[in-house]
Formats: sequence, structure tokens, C-alpha cells
Amino acid sequence: MNTYLGLDFGGTKLLIGETDEEGNILNTKRYKTGLTDQQEAVTCIMEALEDYKATTGFQGQLKAAGLGIVGIVNRRRGEWISMSHEVKNPPIPLQKLLEEKLQVPCAIDNDVRSATTAELLLGRGQTSEDFIYLNVGTGLAAGIVTDGRLIRGANNNSGEIGHMVVDINSTQQCVCHRKGCAENIVSGTGFTAQIRREDAAELLDEDGKAKVVELFRKADAGDPLCQKITDYAAKTLACVIMNLVRVSDPDTVILGGGIISDGWLLEKTRNYLEAETMRGVSHGIVLSSFDPRYAGLIGAASLGMDCIRKK
Ligand SMILES: [Zn+2]
Repeated sequence: MNTYLGLDFGGTKLLIGETDEEGNILNTKRYKTGLTDQQEAVTCIMEALEDYKATTGFQGQLKAAGLGIVGIVNRRRGEWISMSHEVKNPPIPLQKLLEEKLQVPCAIDNDVRSATTAELLLGRGQTSEDFIYLNVGTGLAAGIVTDGRLIRGANNNSGEIGHMVVDINSTQQCVCHRKGCAENIVSGTGFTAQIRREDAAELLDEDGKAKVVELFRKADAGDPLCQKITDYAAKTLACVIMNLVRVSDPDTVILGGGIISDGWLLEKTRNYLEAETMRGVSHGIVLSSFDPRYAGLIGAASLGMDCIRKK
């Protein structure tokens, strides 16, 4: 059996796992990360790989591997540019380091484009050549596929749609230095920012982050503040989706990520989508069919599948 290794590196964890050619998961192991330094993160990835090989091993004939990672990635050059939007260090040749360790072809890409590649090869890409994958998690970002190809951009930075301004009169400064960005309203970070603006400390956890499940539950129970926050988020998400539909004319919009994967926010968002704008989205607006716990891992493994397909 031919198999692929996926490495899903997020803010708090690294998940490593082996899949078959259909993306079925054969094995996984989870490692803690929580790192903010790029070089430390690379050391952590290499040590975890060594441990995975020694303790879990491979069930099949490993053909390729992929790493989906936060930040900016130059996929063509196989370099990890930065962990956030700020570039602080020289690029790290992470693809080469992985290939030396695993002795199979490897590919790296950022986490959202890696999830989009999974949709392209194993998910909705089977029925669509023009779709948008929108990730609503800690941040807000998208993978845009047109004519069966994922748009990357001159600086490997396409799809940072969380930094589209949705309110030109806003006074809320974003990390990107503009004001009124969508990510500050609808994402994990956005809910936290909204709750802080409302001075509603009871909706923040001990790390100062939004208790999103509680926010949704209280909104359902009729709490006016929670309804205000979630309505603003849903309206904003609908606005972002409709703006993107006007840009690339997709027939499918796929939503994934921790904030939306239970479907609650999607149902609220549907109320604000205009039929006139959405009429060409003939396959609808849908949740990703991948198990949200493993979507990142399947995305990473699909980078491996994609890289040998292109060779
Ligand atoms: Zn911004």
C-alpha cells in the first residue's frame, strides 16, 4: 500500500499521521508546540519526526510527505518565510530538511492552502474547478481555486482575506495597520476583540481568549450582548463571502476551521447572504466534509500527494 505522511503544525500542536491514497488516516501522534520562534519550531518538528519514526513507524510504503504550517510559505522554493505576517528571519529550507530526514519527496505550504489542496484532491475538487475554501479559525483566511488551480500570488500571500476592510468608517486598528478588517470581527481573534470592546470579561477564558462555544450558546438562549456579537460576526462573514464571490465567481464555497465546523455560525451567516449575489454558487455554501480534528493532517498529506503527481 502506498502511503503519505502529513505534518500539521499549528499554534499549539503538531499532529503527525500517515494516510492512504484516498486520505484515510492509518495512524496519528500528537505533539505539543506552543512556540513563537521559527528556529525552535523547526527543531520541534525534526525531533517529533524522529520520535514518530521510532515509536509509530509506517504501515505502508511511504511515497511522499507534506507539512502544513502557520505563516508565510514559499511552496515553490520549499521555504518557510515566517511564522506570522511579519518577516523577521531569513527563510528556512524546511522542504529540504524534511526530505533529508524522510528520504521521500516532500512539500510544504501554509495551513489554509494545505487544507484547500485537500479539498482540491480529495474533497469538493472532485465536483468543482472553481471554489473558495474559507477558514474561520483563530484567524480568517481563504484558498481560492480557479480553473482547478490554487492561486498563490507573487509573494505566496494570496487569500489573506481576513485583512479585507469591511467597514471603512471603523476606528479598530488591525495588526496589518489598516482599520476595519474582517478578521477583527469574525474569527477567534475577532470574537476576543469584540468581547474586549464590549468589556464582557465573563466571556473570556483564563488566557484572555473568547469562550466561543459559550458565546454561541448564550446567543441561542437570547442573551442580547452575545446576539449582538454573533450577529455582527455573521453579517461580516456574509459580506466577506459575497465580496469573494464577486472576485472569483466560484460554484462552491467551502467553510472549515474551528469556529465554524459545528455549523452554528454558518446557519446564522446564511440569513445575510443575498440571493442575487449568490446565484452563481450552484453547488452551494457547505461545510468541509473532512473531520475537523484531522482536516489539517489530511491537508498536509495531500501536499505530499500533489508534489509527486506534479513530478
Ligand atoms: Zn488587517
